[in-house]
Amino acid sequence: MSARHEDGVATTHRVVILGAGYAGLSAAIQLASRVKRSGNVRVTLVNAQERFTERLRLHMSATGQRLAELSIPELLAGTGARFERGWVTAVDADAKTVRIDDERVLPYDTLVYALGGVADTAAVPGAEDHAYTLDSAQDAGTLADRLSRLGGGTVAVVGSGLTGVESAAEIAERHPELRVVLLGRSEPGADMTPKAGAYVRSALERLGVDVRSGVEVVKVLPGTVELAGGQSVAADAVLWTSGTRVSPLPAAAGLTVDAHGRIVTDAALRSVSHPDVYAVGDAAAIRQGYGVMHGTCQGGMPTGVHAAVSIVQTIKGRRPKPFRFGYYHTPVSLGRHDAVVQFTHPDDSPRRLYLTGRAAVRYKETVTASPWPTWGRMKKMPASGAFWPRGGRFTRFGEAR
Ligand SMILES: Cc1cc2nc3c(=O)[nH]c(=O)nc-3n(C[C@H](O)[C@H](O)[C@H](O)COP(=O)(O)OP(=O)(O)OC[C@H]3O[C@@H](n4cnc5c(N)ncnc54)[C@H](O)[C@@H]3O)c2cc1C
Repeated sequence: MSARHEDGVATTHRVVILGAGYAGLSAAIQLASRVKRSGNVRVTLVNAQERFTERLRLHMSATGQRLAELSIPELLAGTGARFERGWVTAVDADAKTVRIDDERVLPYDTLVYALGGVADTAAVPGAEDHAYTLDSAQDAGTLADRLSRLGGGTVAVVGSGLTGVESAAEIAERHPELRVVLLGRSEPGADMTPKAGAYVRSALERLGVDVRSGVEVVKVLPGTVELAGGQSVAADAVLWTSGTRVSPLPAAAGLTVDAHGRIVTDAALRSVSHPDVYAVGDAAAIRQGYGVMHGTCQGGMPTGVHAAVSIVQTIKGRRPKPFRFGYYHTPVSLGRHDAVVQFTHPDDSPRRLYLTGRAAVRYKETVTASPWPTWGRMKKMPASGAFWPRGGRFTRFGEAR
């Protein structure tokens, strides 16, 4: 494989991958392993921290549980990919450069944008200033510190989606001295089968979580969460898990983004406005036959692998294949001793099958720990990373249910 200028002289093709989360690391390891022997493609991975953030476990960090020390340079070892630590402050999509910490400038031929997303604290006034989030290991650590100092009182968890449920359960289990209130529009487990959803709610009840569904949070103030209709909930700490938004970087660079700031991609995961920019993971708006994918690790890793394969194909002068992905499960922890795994159709609607209790706890732990063996295998055998459910008719346009 060789990258060539128009005059036919072989050059080095510079691929810069922004973000070493589940999607970015999958892209970096897959791409670097595939091009290792060619010598003409240079892969650089940029991330704010050198330690890998196990985002799937941040609700555990928020309750003071120690996570494994996972070093990104070590995860890349042997692939030939270079690691640059730093905070990405701007992308210049015309000049094809990335600015890091405002002083370093990295030029690229192809960019992979994998900076993920954050909880949408801009959705209501006061959330940005007065609520905690699980956006980073540091944020989770700050909340853990606050919870450990409270000694009593109320924690309000806003958002009854999966992150809200997992967080409320974990806090209630680890801090029995605290009252935990879970506030959300819909019932916890609403997207599951009625029986699996009922299991989630009874587990929360067993843990003493006060679930308030059908409520709309309209403001967060120091010590209080205000609800639509004039009611309020007194809270010594507020955790915001509702909604997702992407940093303003892609929009500022002139890339086409959706209402959440996610980069809109074509079928090969390239930006529709800038085809030399690929977008993967939570930062991408990727359309499938069933609709636009929502952010998960199960879908994020395949997007990274697919972008890497597409880049290799493009450098070889071949046309990249369309990305297709179908969901297969929703694993939800309910503290350390209980969980529910709802198996799903490719469009993420629930199948009848679900697991609970110890079997679900084991399943969830296996899934959460699975990226490392997956990346290890990928380094030796890149093609092993390309196995994921393609979703059949659900992901074909015009054929979804
Ligand atoms: C508590 C919790 C539990 C979850 N449980 C599940 C689950 O069970 N199953 C599931 O599928 N999904 C789960 N998710 C969702 C899942 O974590 C995300 O979908 C996934 O992490 C997205 O991967 P990503 O690579 O796109 O982004 P991320 O994993 O968020 O990675 C983005 C990386 O970019 C870095 N970064 C961001 N901005 C900058 C910048 N400007 N400069 C430099 N670096 C930057 C970040 O530090 C991070 O390393 C959970 C999320 C949370 C918060």
